[in-house]
Amino acid sequence: MLRKKYYINPETLRYERVKLTQRQIFRYVGLFSFGLISLAILMRYGFERIFPTPRQIIYQQENSTLRSEYAALNFELQEVESQLVDLRNRDDRFYRAILSLEPVPNSIRSAGTGGSVRDQHLMVIREPGMILDVSHRLDKISNKVRIQSTSLENVYEKALNTQHFLACKPSINPISPADPYWLTSIYGYRNDPFSGKRTAHHGIDMAGPVGLDIHCTGAGTVIISRLSGHGYGKEVVVDHGFGYTSRYAHLHDIYVEKGQKLKRGEVLGTLGSTGRSTGPHLHYEIRKDGRAVNPTYFFYENLSSQEYTLLASQASFPEGPYQSVAMSQK
Ligand SMILES: [Zn+2]
Repeated sequence: MLRKKYYINPETLRYERVKLTQRQIFRYVGLFSFGLISLAILMRYGFERIFPTPRQIIYQQENSTLRSEYAALNFELQEVESQLVDLRNRDDRFYRAILSLEPVPNSIRSAGTGGSVRDQHLMVIREPGMILDVSHRLDKISNKVRIQSTSLENVYEKALNTQHFLACKPSINPISPADPYWLTSIYGYRNDPFSGKRTAHHGIDMAGPVGLDIHCTGAGTVIISRLSGHGYGKEVVVDHGFGYTSRYAHLHDIYVEKGQKLKRGEVLGTLGSTGRSTGPHLHYEIRKDGRAVNPTYFFYENLSSQEYTLLASQASFPEGPYQSVAMSQK
């Protein structure tokens, strides 16, 4: 409350009340109003603290629910992150390793993402830390998923290619193990049966009765089907792609034409003794990028381990004489 002020009037020699100027009155009224309003605001907030409004109660409940939801979300994010690490390890150490693909470099795996625009939006929230944390983790996860998905696409493509390659690569015996045949000449140097000189033998010779079915050893396209002018007699050459070709020579009959597509196991002709041959046999040859390779190493599928071991042991002695090794007398 304003105190009343007095002064001694020198003319009347009496105490007289000091009169306020208009400006002072305004100031006092202003101060008083300000105090009153501040008091009202304080009381309102104090009151609300003690007695929250229904709306505040709802907000508080929502807030608490959101916090516990955040905790649950956080836990799920951790789970997803650890699953991604697991997937990444399997991808690099297993899938990519099996298919001879290089692991995805760390620099690519841990590449950052631009989240600044969204961060700016989130800055208007009073406590953005919690949401920013989730938001950044989600960005990282989505980036990792994108990289992982690209990697798996590569793996899938490579697997399809590998599947195709496995279907094409010569990998069975050209004569069924159920048929009678025997190995008469191995791959490597030998005494030529005609000249007696030591010459390189670029394939293996498999003897058997004339007319025995000769099978294509991998999917491919016939590129030669003719009576050879080079001693091979009636021969078929199949291009398997990936740099591989196979030759079947001294055939009695040829069942396929140039340009024809063959599947593994398909009969392309019969065993014979045409061309430069001392008796009915198949000359079987595999070339990789034009260079002859040992066909013995390509019998993966229908050769018993015993036959394979015998063939491999014969092949490891290329200096041996022209010999006859009984392979299968079934
Ligand atoms: Zn031969």
